[in-house]
Amino acid sequence: MVMGEVPEEVDIAIVGGGVGGYTAAIRAAELGKSVVLIEKEKLGGHCLNYACIPSKTLIHISNIAYEAAHSEKFGINVENVSIDAKKMLEWRVGVSSRLEKGVAFLCKQNKIDVLKGSATFISRNRVQVTDGTEVIFKKAIIATGSEPSVLKGMEFNGNNIIDYKQALLLDRIPKSMAIIGAGYVSVEIGTLYAKLGSKVNIIARSDVLSKFDSEAVSIVKKHMLNLGIIIHTNANAKGYSDGKLTLDDGSVIEADILVVAVGLKPYTEGLEIENAGVALNDKGFIETGHELKTSNADIYAIGDVIGEPMLAHKAIRQGVVAAENASGLNSAYDNVVVPAVIFSDPEIAIAGSIQESDGIKLKKFPLSALGRGIALDSTDGFAKIAYDSDNTVMGIELVSPDANALIAECALAIEMGANLEDIADTIHPHPTFSESIEEAAEAALGRPINFFYG
Ligand SMILES: Cc1cc2nc3c(=O)[nH]c(=O)nc-3n(C[C@H](O)[C@H](O)[C@H](O)COP(=O)(O)OP(=O)(O)OC[C@H]3O[C@@H](n4cnc5c(N)ncnc54)[C@H](O)[C@@H]3O)c2cc1C
Repeated sequence: MVMGEVPEEVDIAIVGGGVGGYTAAIRAAELGKSVVLIEKEKLGGHCLNYACIPSKTLIHISNIAYEAAHSEKFGINVENVSIDAKKMLEWRVGVSSRLEKGVAFLCKQNKIDVLKGSATFISRNRVQVTDGTEVIFKKAIIATGSEPSVLKGMEFNGNNIIDYKQALLLDRIPKSMAIIGAGYVSVEIGTLYAKLGSKVNIIARSDVLSKFDSEAVSIVKKHMLNLGIIIHTNANAKGYSDGKLTLDDGSVIEADILVVAVGLKPYTEGLEIENAGVALNDKGFIETGHELKTSNADIYAIGDVIGEPMLAHKAIRQGVVAAENASGLNSAYDNVVVPAVIFSDPEIAIAGSIQESDGIKLKKFPLSALGRGIALDSTDGFAKIAYDSDNTVMGIELVSPDANALIAECALAIEMGANLEDIADTIHPHPTFSESIEEAAEAALGRPINFFYG
């Protein structure tokens, strides 16, 4: 700020213009508040520019390329499928740029003041922005997201040791790629590059997707192996040089590119939140209570920076709740389920819990018994439903094409306290993968139609 310049006074200052932050800004503006949204990089944050949207754009493209080259069984013979990686990148960047502009448009229409710069808290109710503006706020919302964790000895060099952002910005298809880490990010990136023709190795400290249902993961692993992906289980990387990655068992892997995807950590760098009296927990996430309030009652925090699950749709919902609370409404983040989707091949999607335990039973319907599955040659997968002694649905897991969209029905069912009859008696359109959910509910009720359980 130039000496003597008057600080900007607003009802609500939002730090971070990612999916959580810009959603909060729009909701607060709708409620009639004056809003400043401070973003140091790109509106839309990681999700729109570097993570969710770019990865799903490239996964879609890789599926087209792969399907084109592997559709002989359907009577389609395509020879010499070639990939123009520069054009592919152009499309991927264009998608993010269009969405970023869309967010800027929405901010403008909602009269949100967008400040381009990095924000630092200088007191409990003031932030200094690197564009020179000082903002005095009545309420603030912190939505600064996360950043990739660094692996000691294999620090990112921007060249051949890269993070997920750079892996989704390559203008060439690497001949070989090794990925350290075995979460959904590794599986998605590994699968997409394998489909584009890279030789992919994944180094997993235990196994890929070890926190997910092993029955679902075994199907995804089978498909990864069919794509030629080598999964090194119970392995650790020891060193990387001259395009060669050495593992602790002495084996050496060729890798033009090494992607380190060992997790995300909260991003609070430069915020100096201690000046605002905002506390962190022992893992570095901002601590919040039920209303998403931090230890400073006038400051809320949302999204990745407050912890798991680090998912865009969680950040978006929290953005709405925090904006409503900061605007004087009484809103709670009390969702029963946060659905999760892995865009693997096939996709895995989960809503609620599918743990079998005392009083909780499971029923599974296989895609091999579904007309749509057979027609599309997508019979590896299932719908699994968990229910209690009152037949209340506790969780649903889908391993299936379209699982990304179908899981919303499952989340809605659980949020509304649906029971098995509600799902079984709802007419699901034929022939679709959604019928697998209905069939699983029917089977759980002891009245299966399209599968003989014996
Ligand atoms: C490869 C990958 C794929 C993913 N795919 C999915 C998916 O398919 N679906 C899903 O739900 N989730 C996905 N995620 C997770 C998702 O990206 C995050 O959960 C989501 O982006 C979190 O949103 P956010 O608003 O909390 O933070 P972000 O989107 O990270 O936004 C934070 C913003 O704050 C800004 N900022 C930080 N500090 C300051 C400061 N001091 N001043 C000003 N601005 C600041 C940053 O520049 C950034 O733009 C994926 C993650 C990865 C890594």
